[in-house]
Amino acid sequence: MKNIYNLTLEDMEEYFLAKKAKKFHALQLFSWLYEKRITSFTEITNIKKEFLEDIKKDFSLNKLKIVDIQKDVDVCKYLFELEDNEHIEAVLMKHDYGNSVCISSQVGCNMGCVFCESGRRKKVRNLDTYEMVLQILMIEEEVGERISHVVVMGIGEPFDNYDNLVKFLKIINQPKGLAIGARHITVSTCGIIPKIKEFALLPLQINLAISLHAPNDILRSKIMPINKAYPLKELIETLKDYLKITNRRITFEYILLSDINDSCECALELVQLVKGINCYINLIPYNETNNLNFKRSSTIQIMRFYDILKKNKINVTIRREFGGKISAACGQLRSKKEEQ
Ligand code: SAH
Repeated sequence: MKNIYNLTLEDMEEYFLAKKAKKFHALQLFSWLYEKRITSFTEITNIKKEFLEDIKKDFSLNKLKIVDIQKDVDVCKYLFELEDNEHIEAVLMKHDYGNSVCISSQVGCNMGCVFCESGRRKKVRNLDTYEMVLQILMIEEEVGERISHVVVMGIGEPFDNYDNLVKFLKIINQPKGLAIGARHITVSTCGIIPKIKEFALLPLQINLAISLHAPNDILRSKIMPINKAYPLKELIETLKDYLKITNRRITFEYILLSDINDSCECALELVQLVKGINCYINLIPYNETNNLNFKRSSTIQIMRFYDILKKNKINVTIRREFGGKISAACGQLRSKKEEQ
């Protein structure tokens, strides 16, 4: 039996058409799931009984289990248990512009970035579409407030789970779904070039963030193995093409790791690398984890790095930090749970 939260509106339309039913039932069903938030198919009143019987037979309405919630000021971290007892995490952040949720896209991750807790533990499997949708739906229900922004920056590499990701994006963007505006959705990748090319052609105005973290190939290959397959020159070329097609500003994420990538030379090299690209750089103070030996850069060094970019007219921000106290760095809560 399939989970109903796996279906895009188009999937549901096909389902009804195959049953010789009217395709507008798909919109009705979407509204029951995402607006009225039914917990049982028996609550549905405007779809014919014979079709409802089929729906009940063909689909489950199963949710995920929330097994831990850690709350801090303006941030809340959720640990979910999946049907096969695997664990994933999602983080809710309360901003002045609305509520944003950071979701996971895989159980574990195979990209192997040396500073990342999720990469320390190999990928177990991709998340199914419904497992991504339900992270948002369930957090929304738990806090009793609307989620207006979504970032795919939790555990996993979203472009290593591309097809399920795209279905998920369609469902949450669908006006009768969670109605989250495409410009309020950001997908972050370590730089899987073929998928960036596909993403550029997707007819949704979703934001793209690139985990850059180093301004040259030697350093980047050391800390992000994906760079050996997709080196910077090709990545930058691909992003230039992406910009031509989409005209949407790219975000570069740059974690500041003490004595690794935070020197003034690195900052200058970074300026040269992104010059002329419509982008902004998000500097991320590294969130230290007990299991890895990397240190966060000092505040002075972070400011020096920032100033160099600013002086060279690069759009740059320093990421506001959430949840240092509650293991909010990507993958930390899952590791704690599973390595107890
Ligand atoms: N795989 C995707 C998305 C998940 S990682 C990607 O690479 O973009 C989300 C972001 O968190 C990435 O930029 C990643 O490099 C960063 N990150 C990982 N561990 C971190 C830590 N301990 N502190 C701060 N950022 C971290």
